[in-house]
Amino acid sequence: MNKIINPDASEWTTISQRPTQSFVSIEDTVMKIFKEVRQKGDAAIIKYTSFFDGISINELKVSETEILEAIAKVPQDLKTAIQTAKSNIEAFHRAQKNGKVEIETMEGVLCWQEKRPIQKIGLYIPGGSAPLFSTVLMLAVPAKIAGCKEIVLCTPPDKNGKINPAILFAAFLCGITQIRKVGGIQAIGGMTFGTKSIPKVYKIFGPGNQFVTVAKQVATKFGVAIDMPAGPSELLVVADDTANAQFVASDLLSQAEHGTDSQVVLVSTSVKLIAEVAKEVEKQLEQLPRKEIAAKAIQNSKLIYLNSDELALDFINQYAPEHFIIAAENEQFYIDGIENAGSVFVGNYTPESAGDYASGTNHTLPTNSYAKNYSGVNLDSFLKSMTFQKITEKGIQNIGKTIEVMAEAEGLQAHKNAVTLRLNNLKKNKNGI
Ligand code: NAD
Repeated sequence: MNKIINPDASEWTTISQRPTQSFVSIEDTVMKIFKEVRQKGDAAIIKYTSFFDGISINELKVSETEILEAIAKVPQDLKTAIQTAKSNIEAFHRAQKNGKVEIETMEGVLCWQEKRPIQKIGLYIPGGSAPLFSTVLMLAVPAKIAGCKEIVLCTPPDKNGKINPAILFAAFLCGITQIRKVGGIQAIGGMTFGTKSIPKVYKIFGPGNQFVTVAKQVATKFGVAIDMPAGPSELLVVADDTANAQFVASDLLSQAEHGTDSQVVLVSTSVKLIAEVAKEVEKQLEQLPRKEIAAKAIQNSKLIYLNSDELALDFINQYAPEHFIIAAENEQFYIDGIENAGSVFVGNYTPESAGDYASGTNHTLPTNSYAKNYSGVNLDSFLKSMTFQKITEKGIQNIGKTIEVMAEAEGLQAHKNAVTLRLNNLKKNKNGI
């Protein structure tokens, strides 16, 4: 890990750069694949699945038999764990429901807002280096609570053309049956344009590697909405002498093992803690089955000393981490001051893995400093807010003049007429003409 002592604020932008390829370098590949998917449909999907995933596949749809066979293969303790996680995620997302907002802005002018589910959505479940069945819960649970009607789930097939049984079990548990064996750019292209096997959707959700993330952003050029850019995982821990170096190291490694392009950062006001964590990371890394992946990510990672909590907070807000752990005595200072983070984990006994799997919060979160302008997935991500209004005769008399004056000033006579005609009609009725 790179140790950086008291970096000057002028260096923060460079230090905050993530180890992913640039958008532009991937965009050309995405455009090429999208063009083919649009023209050739399933044939292009099958071609790129063979090219990137190394598997020749003819049937993209997962059959009911495959789902039932997979369910039988999932060990009971894993089924129980998935059910517990689902119930916590459900409780937290159900609590986010908020009802109708209604107000009479002037007498007789009633305005209200109601939410409606997005009807057709696509869920992307990463499966390249690890089958993230936890992501099925994170996306399908709120989608069902919101009431989305048509839900398709895309996830890459393994080398045998199969989907991990736990992914299929989690999908079944959430009531998702439209499942397609396709990942990467081609999956996003399929859901953007629609093919014989993959339905076109209105909004695409889910995390993925840098290729998936750029493909989702490009999909927006073709009229599809996305949840957010949710790319390679990141974690920033702020810790002082009250933190436990073993815990901090385990948290850093938990995100490093996601992929070689993950980034983990420790910010500390204690040189002693930084040295202890660096030692612990080396020690724990040796024991990990995904040691090679984690070691590469650790090479891109940083241990940063800053000599005050104020400076540390300023840096963290500029970095805008996807996950932010606070393991410092001054925890309330960081809770109150954090402006840009996807999800925050407070205290020595709150590992980031809790949010990844089971505590209830969503793990689909903005990366690459997009926490400055995007929220993570939540119930509202699956809903649209629609406004309504009803104006009575009294109401149009109250607000009419205001609209007429404004319409006139904008030079929009037809807008004005729509009010004037109604006001005149009321006058006529009143005068009995
Ligand atoms: P993935 O499903 O995102 O990507 C696998 C697909 O990428 C393959 O199916 C293949 O089609 C495509 N691909 C591979 N190499 C390619 C290349 N050179 N060019 C074009 N396409 C290529 O699975 P993954 O790779 O394991 O990545 C999962 C990612 O999701 C990780 O980076 C992890 O950190 C991230 N993640 C993010 C969040 C979040 O909320 N931000 C949550 C969980 C996971």
